[in-house]
Amino acid sequence: MPIFDTHTHYDDEQFNEDRDGLIRSLPEHGIGTIMNVCASVRSLDRIVPMTRQYEHVYGAAGVHPDYADEITQEVLDKLRSILAEPKILAVGEIGLDYYWHKEEESHLLQQKTFRQQLDIAREMKMPFVIHSRDAAEDTLRIVKEYMKGGMYGGVMHCYSYSKELAKEYLDMGLYLGIGGVVTFNNGRKLKEVVQMAPLSQLVLETDCPYLAPVPFRGKRNSSLNLPYVVRAIAELKGITTEEIVAVTEENARRLLLK
Ligand SMILES: [Zn+2]
Repeated sequence: MPIFDTHTHYDDEQFNEDRDGLIRSLPEHGIGTIMNVCASVRSLDRIVPMTRQYEHVYGAAGVHPDYADEITQEVLDKLRSILAEPKILAVGEIGLDYYWHKEEESHLLQQKTFRQQLDIAREMKMPFVIHSRDAAEDTLRIVKEYMKGGMYGGVMHCYSYSKELAKEYLDMGLYLGIGGVVTFNNGRKLKEVVQMAPLSQLVLETDCPYLAPVPFRGKRNSSLNLPYVVRAIAELKGITTEEIVAVTEENARRLLLK
């Protein structure tokens, strides 16, 4: 059973040297499907050609909170037209990042552009992929508000908050994206979350080129390292790696490819 990597950034310049060969080689290494996720406004132009070039590559389109100040009406219109493409499965990654941006003014702008993109997800009946760092309270408040109004599911990408907060998202029927951090020695908080969360609400992700698992921590990451993440989850949950791969694959399909 092949792995579904729900969060990659293969358009990143760190893959300029070997992108094509690497992406083509994934299926023979057990990575059956990947969803490449837009971050910057510029990456919006790269996603559709990528999904057309490779059968096993799907996409998510959205603008990361780091680029909130680049979001214009024109960008939102472009986003809508990209989301209408057949292999674009979700709106993302969108959200709030107060780690890199400490100013109140930036927080308000990020909340505005987060909402604009959640509105688009609702309008287009698509799931969302959320990035949230050092913004636990505001993220929960906004996501709760939208879920009440009816949404089409979503993933808390690179989930990094507490077990208690994870329960809130799980109770709303959302999925948690689990990647390399679960293998880190200082990843205790996430390990507790993974033990507690039902396997039926976890999906695998690399966030490559970032967040390589141990023993490659700090190096360029790729989907080829996902077996290390699978092994860590299997140990925490006391079930086989085969079951982790099969169930997370099915979860990703149910959420994204339905
Ligand atoms: Zn990402």
